[in-house]
Amino acid sequence: MQYCRVSSVAEAVDELTRWGAEGRVLAGGTDVMPRFLQGEQVPAALIDIGGIEGLQGISEVGGVTSIGALVTMRRLATASLIALRHPALSQAAAAVGAWQTQTVATLGGNICSAASTADTLPALLVAGAQLTLVSKSGRRRIGLEEFLEGPGTTALRPTELLRAVELEPLGERSAEGYLKVARRSSMDVAVVGLALRLHVSPSGVIDGVRIAMCGGDRSAHRVPAAESVLLGTQLSDESGAFTEARAALADAVGPGDSVESQYRRRVLPGLFGRLAGRCSAEISGVVA
Ligand SMILES: Cc1cc2nc3c(=O)[nH]c(=O)nc-3n(C[C@H](O)[C@H](O)[C@H](O)COP(=O)(O)OP(=O)(O)OC[C@H]3O[C@@H](n4cnc5c(N)ncnc54)[C@H](O)[C@@H]3O)c2cc1C
Repeated sequence: MQYCRVSSVAEAVDELTRWGAEGRVLAGGTDVMPRFLQGEQVPAALIDIGGIEGLQGISEVGGVTSIGALVTMRRLATASLIALRHPALSQAAAAVGAWQTQTVATLGGNICSAASTADTLPALLVAGAQLTLVSKSGRRRIGLEEFLEGPGTTALRPTELLRAVELEPLGERSAEGYLKVARRSSMDVAVVGLALRLHVSPSGVIDGVRIAMCGGDRSAHRVPAAESVLLGTQLSDESGAFTEARAALADAVGPGDSVESQYRRRVLPGLFGRLAGRCSAEISGVVA
């Protein structure tokens, strides 16, 4: 196996073109290395992108937040811009493993691994994440929803590098958050994770809602059935629409009768109740 350490996006793209499906990008290595050491995935070349300075930035231009693929979970969990503009992502990053993992695990790695349990994905989905991918033939942008094709499967081509992620800002009269249930309170992947973003009009009507979940047999995904029952209702109508949304979320787990599915169905409504209560209190504080 060849080890290639690259120091620019151009060099990385050259190596990706050279190795194609035989090569594998190495970022923080928290997914790649365990698989490599266990002999599950042994590529002909590991292309180490860890030294590319240009993939490390967090910036905000015209209200849109751009995050480089190499930004670690620890940085996401501690950066004030992320806490302020994208609290769900900040909370999701803080929920990834323990701090040792967070120190090296990158956002790009979490997205490209596309595990069904990946914590940042629901938070990115509610922020309308757009990905920038680069290859020898230029760059293309793709929405995260379209990028995620199934657990562990994405629209990333073997010759492409994920460069950055752009997120829609959290506007006025809006709030968001992420909550996760795992077997242990830390260092374990999500049995279920839930992100919610709510936006209300000046009169308190919910005019924007995004709900996304991870865990289970599917990739992280939005839950349109739960979103649509909330849209157009009064934020203060917690007993009506919020109860319907809880039921829609339990349905979104699917028909499976495994113990895990039954458990997810049981915990999701409560998880939603806590998140919705938190978001609603935050917004009400602003509206009042
Ligand atoms: C002990 C432990 C606990 C964990 N707990 C959690 C958890 O609670 N929640 C959770 O979501 N995850 C968890 N993980 C999984 C892992 O830490 C994350 O998925 C992490 O974000 C992966 O990032 P990385 O930089 O280590 O990726 P790597 O392992 O370097 O790469 C992962 C995959 O993405 C590809 N890749 C990486 N960057 C790019 C790029 N820029 N362009 C193209 N392809 C790229 C690689 O080729 C590889 O296929 C855990 C892992 C460990 C070892």
